[in-house]
Amino acid sequence: MAVPQRRISKTRKRLRRTHFKLEVNGLVACPHCGELIRSHHVCPKCGYYGGKQVIEVKKDEE
Ligand SMILES: [Zn+2]
Repeated sequence: MAVPQRRISKTRKRLRRTHFKLEVNGLVACPHCGELIRSHHVCPKCGYYGGKQVIEVKKDEE
């Protein structure tokens, strides 16, 4: 089994991990309501996708 020849220093390990991100990528603003949504997904707030309402959205007020 391949084994690292040298231990990676704390600095090198931490520098590598500066590229790790916690945020979920692929968030875009909904063109209909402006809410942040995942791209290529129906907007959960207004139910729009591709410029049309494709699903009925339940309202919490009722
Ligand atoms: Zn929307």
